[in-house]
Amino acid sequence: MITAKTKICGIFGYPIEHSLSPQMHNAAFKALGLDYIYVAVKVAPEDLAAAVKAIRAMNLIGVNITIPHKEKVIPFLDDLSPEAKASGAVNTIVNCGGRLVGDNTDGKGFIKSLTEENKMKLPGKKVLLLGAGGAGRSIGVSLLKNNIKVLSLYDVSVPRGASLAADLRSITSKNKVVQIDQAGLQPAVKKVDILINATPIGMKISDPCVIDPKWLHNKLFIYDIIYNCETALLKEAKRKKIKCANGLGMLVNQGALSFELWAGKKAPIAVMRKAITG
Ligand code: NAP
Repeated sequence: MITAKTKICGIFGYPIEHSLSPQMHNAAFKALGLDYIYVAVKVAPEDLAAAVKAIRAMNLIGVNITIPHKEKVIPFLDDLSPEAKASGAVNTIVNCGGRLVGDNTDGKGFIKSLTEENKMKLPGKKVLLLGAGGAGRSIGVSLLKNNIKVLSLYDVSVPRGASLAADLRSITSKNKVVQIDQAGLQPAVKKVDILINATPIGMKISDPCVIDPKWLHNKLFIYDIIYNCETALLKEAKRKKIKCANGLGMLVNQGALSFELWAGKKAPIAVMRKAITG
């Protein structure tokens, strides 16, 4: 039951109606008997500063941040975790007695899903990352922290790709990060062990495969971080019997890590997963 003592957290995004986070977190709070509620709030870009100020004014325990605010929210925060600082993107804010600390659980959640659920071993692996937006940034940082051999990076926006490549080179040895152009995609796919789609291509049923399906081969592991539908990339991977995963595991694990930051308790991952998969 919601009472005057109920602690409030939630998610800010625009649009937000598609978010599965409320059902995932509310199921977790219920399972652990915690008097917390999680709500989705539609925050337009021009209202972001006011919405972040309201976290303090209304004593929210924290919020998740999603598209399109993950990078733009940073100037309104008091402090950043090392992950948020390195990736330049925030997906979780923790209200520490009025001090708003930005964190990023996307990358760590991705790694947990890839290594624990999908049993991939990362040290020494060659990885191709498509997309250098909010999610791609935190995934790139986490991959490099897990001792991969080389990260090839492609974004249709060349400046966005270059900006992420420069930021990543500042936290690792320079030759570990290679920004590629469209012509470099086919040779890169041929060489790598892991292909990650961190672009929005595939979210709509009408979307094409994010890369030419002819290039896909059986030595790849393909991780598509989209979770709302089976993308053309995953359909092609399954057709060719290539090992693959969708973004549900990342979603659940990043949510579990945010939950733990707010509640200070181990997240009930199985409950959270069931709440969004049925
Ligand atoms: P974002 O900030 O908009 O970044 C996506 C980037 O991909 C943009 O730079 C975009 O460039 C680029 N891009 C678009 N088409 C491309 C293509 N064909 N090849 C290479 N790059 C391309 O989005 P985001 O927040 O990173 O999210 C990306 C996707 O991940 C979304 O579908 C989101 O739902 C999903 N996601 C999943 C999880 C999870 O837990 N599973 C977590 C976060 C995000 P332009 O902007 O120029 O098009």
